[in-house]
Amino acid sequence: MKQPAIQIPDGLNEVLLHACCAPCSSAIVEWLLQHDIQPTIFYFNPNIYPWDEYCIRKEESKRHASSLGIRWIDGDYDHADWQCRVVGLEDEPERGARCMQCFNYRLLETARQAETLGLEWFATTLASSRWKSIEQINEAGFYAEKQFSGVHFWAQNWRKGGLADRRNQLLKEYNFYNQQYCGCEYSMRK
Ligand code: SF4
Repeated sequence: MKQPAIQIPDGLNEVLLHACCAPCSSAIVEWLLQHDIQPTIFYFNPNIYPWDEYCIRKEESKRHASSLGIRWIDGDYDHADWQCRVVGLEDEPERGARCMQCFNYRLLETARQAETLGLEWFATTLASSRWKSIEQINEAGFYAEKQFSGVHFWAQNWRKGGLADRRNQLLKEYNFYNQQYCGCEYSMRK
């Protein structure tokens, strides 16, 4: 029998969803709600530069969650700290070693937040982007889950199941701000 494109782990009915931005979250959140899974959005993206761009993306994520009545948690923004974690990797291409560090940092904090909230499962909208390496995201997610007790990473390719097309529809319906680069200053200059 053919497996569904998106598989729900046994017992999962609530998830901490790390959101990189509102457009990438939209179809995933809709799918979760349609499948009786309650998402809490965790907005933790200290990679984003400059500050004004960060604020725009964050407010869009907040607007999205608010429109659906979903819990939304604001992670810290410390771009200087993020920069320290990618020192020496500034010239790496996207999908390279800098992005691996970036995913590690963001998913570690997501796993920490899941443990704090007492949520067993966490996932990330990063895995909806065709510009990113699913293998790197999964590696970061599984590394993060091992650092905390009682939390599990839901490794899922969120490009499947028609969600990529639905993302583009929702982008227009919500009239979301649509960023033109991944987030950091090094992706900006490409
Ligand atoms: S290109 Fe994107 S994923 Fe890679 S380091 Fe920059 S912000 Fe992070």
